[in-house]
Amino acid sequence: MLHTDTSNTEAAALHILQTIYGYDAFRNQQADIVNHVSNGGDALVLMPTGGGKSLCFQIPALVRSGTAIVVSPLIALMQDQVMALRQNGIKAAFLNSSQSAMEANGVETALMDGDLDMLYVAPERLMMPRMLDLLSRAPLALFAIDEAHCVSQWGHDFRPEYIKLSILHERFPDIPRIALTATADGPTQREIIERLSLHEARVFNDGFDRPNIRYRISENQGNAREQLLRFILNEHEGEAGIVYCLSRKRVDEIAQWLSSKGMTALPYHAGLGNEVRQQHQERFLREDGVIIVATIAFGMGIDKPDVRFVAHLNLPKSIEAYYQETGRAGRDGLPADAWMAYGLQDVITLRQMQGNSSAEEGRKRLEQHKLDAMLGLCELTTCRRQALLRYFDDNLDQPCGNCDNCLTPPETWDATLAAQKALSCVYRTGQRFGVSYLVDVLLGKEHERISQFGHDKISTYGIGTELNATEWRTLYRQIIARGLLKVDVEGYGSVQLTDTARPILKGEEQLTLRKMVKATKNPSRKTRAFSGAANNTLWDALREHRKALATEQSIPAYMIFHDATLAEMTERQPQTLEQLGRISGIGERKLDAYGQGFLDVILANAGTDNEQNDGINDTAANSISLLKQGNTVEDIATQRKLSLNTIYNHLCQGIANSELSLNDVIDLDEAQIKEIQFAFELSEDGKLKTVFESLDGEYDYTILKCVKTSLSSS
Ligand code: ADP
Ligand code: ZN
Repeated sequence: MLHTDTSNTEAAALHILQTIYGYDAFRNQQADIVNHVSNGGDALVLMPTGGGKSLCFQIPALVRSGTAIVVSPLIALMQDQVMALRQNGIKAAFLNSSQSAMEANGVETALMDGDLDMLYVAPERLMMPRMLDLLSRAPLALFAIDEAHCVSQWGHDFRPEYIKLSILHERFPDIPRIALTATADGPTQREIIERLSLHEARVFNDGFDRPNIRYRISENQGNAREQLLRFILNEHEGEAGIVYCLSRKRVDEIAQWLSSKGMTALPYHAGLGNEVRQQHQERFLREDGVIIVATIAFGMGIDKPDVRFVAHLNLPKSIEAYYQETGRAGRDGLPADAWMAYGLQDVITLRQMQGNSSAEEGRKRLEQHKLDAMLGLCELTTCRRQALLRYFDDNLDQPCGNCDNCLTPPETWDATLAAQKALSCVYRTGQRFGVSYLVDVLLGKEHERISQFGHDKISTYGIGTELNATEWRTLYRQIIARGLLKVDVEGYGSVQLTDTARPILKGEEQLTLRKMVKATKNPSRKTRAFSGAANNTLWDALREHRKALATEQSIPAYMIFHDATLAEMTERQPQTLEQLGRISGIGERKLDAYGQGFLDVILANAGTDNEQNDGINDTAANSISLLKQGNTVEDIATQRKLSLNTIYNHLCQGIANSELSLNDVIDLDEAQIKEIQFAFELSEDGKLKTVFESLDGEYDYTILKCVKTSLSSS
C-alpha cells in the first residue's frame, strides 16, 4: 500500500499502472475515475465488457491506504481474480463459502493487520453482522461493487443480497464506494443509484460499444455445421471459442462433430453431471484453444479474456441475450468474431415458442417485440453495430466498418412481386400449410397431397419458377421475420397472413429484401492476435512456453501474460530484458519472474515466417554470402531490412554447417571467446540464460548463441 497525499494521487496512480501492471497509459475515462475514487469520491462506472473496469477500483485500492473490499456475486471467479492479482505482486485474498474456517481465519487476521491490498467478498458474507463488525475495526480503502446491475429487480441477474448493500453507505459513510457494470440501460442505472444510495456519486458512462468484435450473421444454408466448421478452420483454428446451440441434443452432436474434425470441443449443458460440467469449464479456462459447445446456460461469469469467437447456431431470443452472449468474445480487446448462422426453421421455432408461452399478455407482447428486434437485426442491410447500439440508446455516428454489412454490403432486390406470389399462395391454400408445402405449390410440383387438396388447380400453382426452392424459403423467412406472416402456435408450422401483408398484396407498398448470399461469400480473414510481420513459429513457441509456466502453477495461461502481450512480443521481438519490460502488460513482478524465460524463447525463434516461407536456407544463405562479400552484420541488417538478431541467426546457421567460422561472424579476441566457451562448459544445462548470467550479462545473447553453435558444430 502506498501512502500518498492527495496532490500526488495522479502521479501515484500512473506509477502503479506502469510498474505493477506494465501498461503505458490509462484508457478512456480510467484516469478520471481512478483520481476521483482515490481522492475519496463515490462513482458509478458504466463501461463495456473488456473496457477495463477492474483497474478503476484496483488502482485506487493501491493508492489509498487500507484494504479495498470488493463485492462480487461470482464466487467461482474470486479465486481466479485473486490469483491474477498475486501474479502482479498485489496482496489479494477472498472470503467466501468455499473456504475452510482456518483459511477464512487467516484472511481475517491479514485484514485486521492491514496486510491486504484487496479483499474479495461475496455479498451474503459481507452482510453478516460479524463481518460488518470486523470491517468497522479494519483499515479500509474503499468498497467496490462489481456487477452492480445485480441490484436491479428488473434486470436478468437479480441477486437479493445485493439490495442490502445500501447498508455500506450507512455504516461506513466516509469510505468511498465505486459501483461498476457493463449492462445497465437507463432504468437499471437509476435503480442502482437508488438502491445503493449513490446519489452523490459521479457517473462515468463509456457506452456499450465493443469495437473489436466483428458481428456477422449469415444464412443457414441447410448445412450450418459445415458453415461453422469452415468458419473455425479458416479463421480460428486452435483458438478458444464458444458455440451456442438451442438444445442439449444439438450441443452433443456439434461437440462430437467438431471433435471428429480434430478440435478440442467440449459439451456443456444442464443434462450433464455437475462434475463433468465443472471439468469442461475448467479446461476451457485453463487450456489454450478449447471450444465449448453449450446451451445458453454457459457463460455467466466467464472472465476468460482470450475467447476469440462466439458462434450461434441458434437464434437468440432478444438483442439483450445476443449482446450478452457475443460479449464474451474478445475481452482482451483483440479482434474477435461474433458469428451466427440462422435460417427459416429458427424463425419458425422461436415464433412458435413465443405463441405457446403461458406468460401474461403484457409480458408476451414484450417478448414479441424483443424477438422482432432480433429478427430485424438479422435481416438488416445496414451497419449491425449502429443498430445494436441504437437498441441500447447508445449512438454511433458512422457505420462501423467492422461488421459483415459494412465489409460486404449486401445486395438488395425489389421483392414485391415475389412476395405477392408467396403471400397469395398462403391465402389461396387456406392459410393452413407450412412453408415447404407452399414452395412446392409455387414451383408446380406434382405430388399426391397437392392434387388431393386440389391445389394444382389454383392460380398460384406453378407461378414461381423464377426462383428455386432455397430462394423461396429464404423469401418466406424474410417475410415471416418482417411480420407479414405469422406462424401457428400448435406447432405444425402453418403460416397465416397478418395485417401488414395487406398493403404489399394490394401493391400499395414496395418490398426490398437482401439478396441471399451464396455460400462462402462471407468476408474471410485470419484473425491472428498479431499483425505485421507474422511469425507463427515464434507465436507458437511463446504460447508453448506460457502454457508450461501456467501448468506448473496450475493457473490459466492468460494469468501469466495475455495474448495481447505475447502478440506484441511477436511483433517487436525485444532483444533485452529492458526492451521486454516496455511491452504492454509486463509489470515489474512479471518481468522478474518470467522475463528471461520469454526472452530466451524470442531469441531462439527470431526472424519472420515470411523469410521461412522462401526457405530459411535461402535467406540465411543470402546473409552468409553478403558477409563473405565483406559486409558487416549491421550492413546486412540495414540492407535486408531485417533485425540484427535475425541476421545473427542466419550466420549461426553458417557456423553450424561450417560455412563460416566463429571469427567471421563475431568480433571478439581469443581470450573473450575462451571465456565464453569456458562458461558454457561450466554451466550445468548449457542454456544461454545460465551462461548469460554467469558472465554477468557482459555478452549479448546473439554472441553467446554463435559461440554455442561453434562449440556444438566442432
Ligand atoms: P472489464 O472488467 O471492464 O471487462 P478488464 O478490467 O478485465 O475489463 O480489462 C480488460 C482488459 O484490458 C484486461 O486485459 C486489462 O488488463 C486490459 N486493460 C485495462 N486497462 C488497460 C490499460 N489502461 N492499458 C492496457 N490494457 C488495459
Ligand atoms: Zn458496421
